[in-house]
Order: sequence, then structure tokens, then C-alpha cells
Amino acid sequence: MPSTTGPSLIDPFGRRVTYLRVSVTDRCDFRCIYCMSEHMTFLPKAELLTLEELDRLCSAFIRKGVRKLRITGGEPLVRRGIMWLFRALGRHLDRGALDELALTTNASQLARYAAELADCGVRRVNVSIDSLNAEKFRAITRIGRLDQVVAGVEAVREAGLAVKINTVALKGVNDDEIGDMVAWCGDRDCDLTFIEVMPMGEIDGYRSEQYMPLTAVRDKIEERWTLTDTDYRSGGPARYVTVAETGRRIGFITPHSHNFCESCNRVRLTCTGTLYMCLGRDDSADLRAHLRAGSSDAPLEAAIDDAIARKPKGHDFVIERAAPAVARHMSVTGG
Ligand code: SAM
Ligand code: SF4
Repeated sequence: MPSTTGPSLIDPFGRRVTYLRVSVTDRCDFRCIYCMSEHMTFLPKAELLTLEELDRLCSAFIRKGVRKLRITGGEPLVRRGIMWLFRALGRHLDRGALDELALTTNASQLARYAAELADCGVRRVNVSIDSLNAEKFRAITRIGRLDQVVAGVEAVREAGLAVKINTVALKGVNDDEIGDMVAWCGDRDCDLTFIEVMPMGEIDGYRSEQYMPLTAVRDKIEERWTLTDTDYRSGGPARYVTVAETGRRIGFITPHSHNFCESCNRVRLTCTGTLYMCLGRDDSADLRAHLRAGSSDAPLEAAIDDAIARKPKGHDFVIERAAPAVARHMSVTGG
């Protein structure tokens, strides 16, 4: 059914929303120290949208002008039947309604899905690697095996996909490896993005102890590598430089500064069908209720319009606060 309120999602500040990030599960096979506690309680499975509901909801956003989808989580590749969703969403690429279908993953399962992802039209994958030292990698993820993750990266590269590595800068944990990460990514033709720890959800320690400003990361990189600032923007929070010696890009995601909010082009859907218009704010819209209210898409599309009309100007993160700025974990909202 056609939309009642027009095709474009433009918020009150004139920003066009063209990018939807979708968390398909809050579950994960890792327990990264900055992301969740060791004994994390996950949502009851009945709370989750079915894959068919996720497809219907994503398709509604595409009809309303979203051009890029990123599937994330939790760990998206641990959701049973997830390739059905990639295949279903791939049809929008084939008919030109979608420019990009991307994935963010911890890569534990990536090796076995690489070829199928390529076949579904996925061209880019973001992989989180916070250490290149197997023991440290295990300590950060509490469970993960670095060799599996590296095999996953190699498999998607062989399948022809571009890989970007995401690394959360952790004071006293991986700050001695920053220059090596740049070399590792250069050798594999991968771009690299450093992320500051964000205060989302309760964890076992204090985030202020983990927090390392990216100005310090950049200083460390420049001890070994030549960086040039670029104007390249992805519509998101990252600022980019190029590394003269490798030719690869490095992004810096500094959510504690507000400098990116004015160009924000994205919203986030949780695995329960809640839409968050800003990663760092609590205001949300329950799209699952509209999805389950009936088979007509018109009320659903109207609810999407109403939500976009409430997209706030910017976030409210302050790392020093004792309590998390937002109670939900990144794994629920989708990183
Ligand atoms: N499991 C997948 C992964 O790790 O790539 C996808 C979901 S994960 C929540 C997405 C990204 O969010 C990862 O790069 C992870 O490092 C990052 N992340 C998780 N919690 C974070 C936090 N509190 N602050 C900053 N980044 C965080
Ligand atoms: Fe899982 Fe990703 Fe969170 Fe690590 S960062 S616990 S891999 S969801």
C-alpha cells in the first residue's frame, strides 16, 4: 500500500534519513568487556521480531527513502536463518531501490558465510577486532578466538568483499598495539576505524577506566605513520585520515564530541522493533505494535514518519557519569 505521508524521511533539522542500522538479535557468542557483562541476560526469544517481520519493516524504510541497510546486533551471524534475511533484502539491491546492504560482525562465524553473503549482494563488512594478540583478544572478548576471526576476514576478502576493521580504544589494554593495527590493516587492504568507549548499558567495570580519547590514539599512530586529514565523510560520526605508507583510510569515531550530529543521516532499529532516532538518547518508537496490528503498511509508514519528526538535534553522552548515559546496551540498539 502506498505511503500516506510522502516518500522521504526528512527530520525537523532538514537532515535526510537514508541509513538504517538493524540489530537482528541481542545475543552474542562473545562477551566483550566494554559491551556487556559476563553474565548478560538476553531478551526472551518471543520478544524478537521474526525474520519476516524484519524484512517487512526494512522494506517499509526502503520505500520511504532509506538507501543503505546495515545488519548488526548482538552478533547477527548467530541468529538462526539469518541468510534468509540477507537473501530477502538483496532483492532491493537487484531492483535498484537500495544502494548498499552491509554487515557488522565479530567474524566468529564469517568464514562459513562469506561466499553466501557475497551472493546476496553484500559488498562491505565491518569486523570488530580489538587486539591482534590471541590471549588479549580472548581476555577482551572473554570467549573469542582470534584465529577464527582472522580466518573470517580472509574468507570475505577472498570472496571479493571490502573489510573495515573496528577497534575500540581501551586504555591500558590495547593502546600498545595501535601502530601494529595500522600495519595489519594495510597488509590486508582493510580500512580501520577507532572508536571511543560509549556509556551504554551496565558492564562489570567502570567505563571511565577503559576510556581512551582518540586524540591519544592519533598521537600513537603518528609516532610510526604519516597521516593526512581528508574531507571524506560517511554521514556518520567518523573523521577520516589517510595513511601515506599504506594508502588506507583510518576513521576516528569520537561520540563525546558533537561535531557529527549536524550531518547525521541514520536511525537504529532494535531486534524488538523499537526505533531509536539517536544512539545517545532514550526517545524511541515502538514499530512492532504497528507491524503486528495488521497487514496494511500505511499505519506502519505513518509511525515511521512520526518517529523521524522527533529525531533530536544531538546526543547526550558524558563518559565521566557514574551511570550509563543510556540504559540499553549497544548490542540491543545495534552498533
Ligand atoms: N557483534 C558485532 C561486532 O562486535 O561487530 C556487531 C555488534 S557490536 C555492538 C558493534 C560495534 O559496537 C562493535 O564494533 C563494538 O566494538 C562496538 N561497541 C559495543 N559496545 C560499545 C561501547 N560501549 N562503546 C563503544 N563501542 C561499542
Ligand atoms: Fe558481542 Fe559485538 Fe558486543 Fe562484542 S561488541 S559482546 S562481539 S555484540
